[in-house]
Amino acid sequence: MPLCTLRVDLGALQRNVERLTALVAPTPLAVVVKANAYGHGLVPVARALSGRVARFCVYELSEAVALRDAGVTDPILILGPVPREEIDTAHAAAAAVTLWNLDFARRAASTARRRRSPLAVHAKVDTGVARLGFPPTDAPAAIAKIAQTPELRLEGCFTHLASSEDLDEGFTSLQHRRFEEATRGALPEATIRHMAASAAAMMWPETRLDMVRVGIALYGIWPSRECRLFLQSRAIRSLHDGDPTAGLLEPAITWTTHIVALREIDHGDPVGYGSTWRAARPTRIATLPVGYAEGLDRSLSNRGQVLVGGRRCPIVGRICMNMSMVDVTEVPDAHVGQAVTLLGRDGDAEITADDVADWCGTIAYEVLARLPLHLPRAYV
Ligand SMILES: *Cc1c(COP(=O)(O)O)cnc(C)c1O
Repeated sequence: MPLCTLRVDLGALQRNVERLTALVAPTPLAVVVKANAYGHGLVPVARALSGRVARFCVYELSEAVALRDAGVTDPILILGPVPREEIDTAHAAAAAVTLWNLDFARRAASTARRRRSPLAVHAKVDTGVARLGFPPTDAPAAIAKIAQTPELRLEGCFTHLASSEDLDEGFTSLQHRRFEEATRGALPEATIRHMAASAAAMMWPETRLDMVRVGIALYGIWPSRECRLFLQSRAIRSLHDGDPTAGLLEPAITWTTHIVALREIDHGDPVGYGSTWRAARPTRIATLPVGYAEGLDRSLSNRGQVLVGGRRCPIVGRICMNMSMVDVTEVPDAHVGQAVTLLGRDGDAEITADDVADWCGTIAYEVLARLPLHLPRAYV
């Protein structure tokens, strides 16, 4: 038995795709599977969703190659930088490449010429994230140049939003306007225009354009609390009966381990390195074989909780490299070998990625993306 397991419910991901597809219909739904499919496992997730989505968006070339090696034939878009010397590999993988630099575009065109077939590309415009993209002022000329290059097939043109999960629509509208201005008249008819990630796809229908790129929502997590509240309030305004957000997104990941040792300690006894926690009563301490090397963030020390027997139990003392300790005094039948849930549901209790993120001072995106590659994953 592995010391811990990530169980991924592929059916939940398929249902999330179905419900999100219905929500944004008739706009095609692309799904983002970067960062090992937000920790869920790139290849199994893509195989489960193959044929059900408009395309897969990855960050790097190696992810596109891994999908092709696994037999995934759906369209793929690489969102991040491709090393110049590896454009051949992207072409061979029939993965579309993102362009934000004309030097790189020329290099890509010469690779495609040598390989005797056009390379699919998406031009990116930076409308306000200051990360990747042609500046809006350069975009019309750059896009025209790309569109006129026969070795490049301008499949899409996109931008990325900075604050779409905020209730204040101001900056999203500004970015939308900049994108329209930068691309108006510059794009061939068939070019797919896209800008919305999960939050905008759900909150701002006018940003859906010709495709949405959904990441976090696919994995059953709300992009922000505001996003969920916004959808609820819109339903109330339209006198829609029922909460449209209930059951819309199903989390798909459960992270479990088990107790490997148990001990009784006395009032005043310390636990863990630095003795940062002391028992305020006679206490039962369970040792778990999961520490920060397994992805249990050390900032959960004396802050986080886990589920034992369907009850929340506090992590006490500092999380170690490969182990951590939990106060199970409130679970009288806790025993060595008993299952412990670090993330997910046990009976009526649940630890969500948002709970963990709140305890660590981060966002659920990071909690998922940092789940280590080496943890065993089981797919159901
Ligand atoms: C990660 C990413 C997305 C997905 O964002 P979510 O908020 O997870 O839906 C979409 N587009 C780009 C360019 C991204 O980098």
